[in-house]
Amino acid sequence: MTAHNYGLPDFSSVSPHTIAHTVRHLLDEHRVLLDAVGESAEPATIENTLVPLETGDAELSRHIRVMWTYASSVGGSEWDRVESELVPLLTAHEDSIYMDPRLYGRLEQLSSQEHDPQTAWALSEHLKNFRSRGVHLDTEFRERLQQINARMADLKTQIGQLIVKTNGEAALPLGEDDVVGLTDSQKAGLAADAAANPDAAKGAPYLLTMVLPTQQPLAASFAKAKVRERVLEASIRRADGHGGGVDTRALILELVKLRAEQANILGFETFAEYEASRGTAGSSRAVFELLDSMVGPTATNAEKEASELAEHYRDHLAQPGEEFSPADWTYTQEHLRQSAFSLDGSELSRYLELWNVVERGVFYAATRLYGLQFIARDDLSGYTEDVKVWEVREEDGSRIGLFLGDYYARAGKRGGAWMHELLIRSEQGDDYTIICNNLNVTKPAEGSPTLLTWDEVRTCFHEFGHALHGFLSATRWPSAAGTNVPRDFVEFPSQVNEMWASHPEVLDSYARHFETGEMMPDRLRGALTASEGFAEGFATSEILQAVLLDQAWHRVSADEIPSGVEAVASFESAALTRIGIASPWIPPRYRTTYFDHIFSSDYSAGYYSYLWSEALDADVVAWFRTEGARGDDGGLNRTAGETMRCAVLSRGNSRNPVESFEELRGRPVDTAALLRRRRLV
Ligand SMILES: [Zn+2]
Repeated sequence: MTAHNYGLPDFSSVSPHTIAHTVRHLLDEHRVLLDAVGESAEPATIENTLVPLETGDAELSRHIRVMWTYASSVGGSEWDRVESELVPLLTAHEDSIYMDPRLYGRLEQLSSQEHDPQTAWALSEHLKNFRSRGVHLDTEFRERLQQINARMADLKTQIGQLIVKTNGEAALPLGEDDVVGLTDSQKAGLAADAAANPDAAKGAPYLLTMVLPTQQPLAASFAKAKVRERVLEASIRRADGHGGGVDTRALILELVKLRAEQANILGFETFAEYEASRGTAGSSRAVFELLDSMVGPTATNAEKEASELAEHYRDHLAQPGEEFSPADWTYTQEHLRQSAFSLDGSELSRYLELWNVVERGVFYAATRLYGLQFIARDDLSGYTEDVKVWEVREEDGSRIGLFLGDYYARAGKRGGAWMHELLIRSEQGDDYTIICNNLNVTKPAEGSPTLLTWDEVRTCFHEFGHALHGFLSATRWPSAAGTNVPRDFVEFPSQVNEMWASHPEVLDSYARHFETGEMMPDRLRGALTASEGFAEGFATSEILQAVLLDQAWHRVSADEIPSGVEAVASFESAALTRIGIASPWIPPRYRTTYFDHIFSSDYSAGYYSYLWSEALDADVVAWFRTEGARGDDGGLNRTAGETMRCAVLSRGNSRNPVESFEELRGRPVDTAALLRRRRLV
């Protein structure tokens, strides 16, 4: 019997040149197919309209997914070039589909007929997509929308590039005296950055490069108050034009103005209203109600933490004459965390070896809940040699597909962690599912074990939660499969899956000392549990400020948007003060000038999605621990797993996702669980 390969692409034959060539060719073929559908004189049927629209791009999608895989996980100048060459073509192609009144007309014809519920929902979702681009409007409005789209795409690219540039501009050269408090490996990282970037280092031995959020992770380690102050100052002033440097303000003002105009043309009062209508929240009032209930308690918690930290700082950390300042917050917080819980990260890591975490933790939980089986397939190769491949089967042995784990950081690979799919099965589409998880764990020296931080362990479970959403998908139409759900729903299953990382039986299975195989001692487990919820006031305040700042920029009409760039900072502080979330101690997670998610990526008026999904997540975690539990198993059983699978994970976007949630919970979401988790009640 030859081993089954589930349609895994033959990566050895992929090259940037061949992919670019094939994608161009398949785009042309797809265009011809859609023209034929649009021009058909036959009355519209599922077979002659919906089927080609859903499945006619199968081959094209497969190649595009391979292209994305290389562009994000491998990178390098050749793949960058292919990406920037293909992206405008793909955007224009998508526009040409969703702005085509002929296709829209045929789908409208179909939607007036009787269909099974999944088909009816797929049709209504397609029509919604067409309308959200203005296909139903008069030519003059459609033309204006196209102009706006093109200009907005351009502005987003420019802002994104300026934010990359400002991170470079704000990089801090540091001397031997400045890096007191850092570990040897942290210093080695900064030294390597200085060596790689001698112009920015200006002869200094170390260089601190900025990451996106306001708080720079290393600020929690610098022992000198002056250095922490320099780091925070450099971070919050990014791209605000000071000293003649990078300035994103004019571009941002133009972009928010265009968004307000676009929303008006499409029939919405504000852009926030338009975005909320495309998610499960439905309206910006619903979004605001959730956020508003969090503001008061968050501000109170943050104040309380501020006075605790100020006291701890004064008693244990301050040099004579030093006062606690916002720049000392994360440093003091880490110090307090270690002394309150004696949670030593490096000791903990000895029990968190990567492959144990994956095979005996992440997979183990999926077997206990969903009956899935995982078989290592060392005979199959991924797109680089770091990729490990497993076969995924149902409890009864039937085939689902392949899981590719790409856990290590490499030069050229995008930062962060994510899931993506190469194939996703559905009744009308692919036969098998192939899903990849990417993390950026530092690869140890040859022969040494990969020991993770607790955060990285949670990330492994999180990304596999997205993978489960794909593997367990059972929809009729490809467009509804797996994680193709609205943005404010997609993080819900992945966040739920994080709960199993600290489940006692799952910990028993995977948290073993990398040398002796001994179980994690109770002392460490206790410290892990006790430290849950620590510093929640800070974390919630920073994210809630960012969410509300995003809403503020997108809840105004075009003529309420300030016109001078100096007004950007005052708009920001006035908005946060008016809502009651401004803090003298905690800056927002992103300030306007470097808020990449909303001005360059796809989270415009949608940054709320993280908290919205978390409300669903916290409510379902509570369900697993109560109704889903058998005895004291905390919900780790096949019955609870099947219920979750049947109501949510298998459904994708084959019906309104709100319905899926409500089937599981038996009622609409109750945000009390989120408020409890974030210590807001
Ligand atoms: Zn996620």
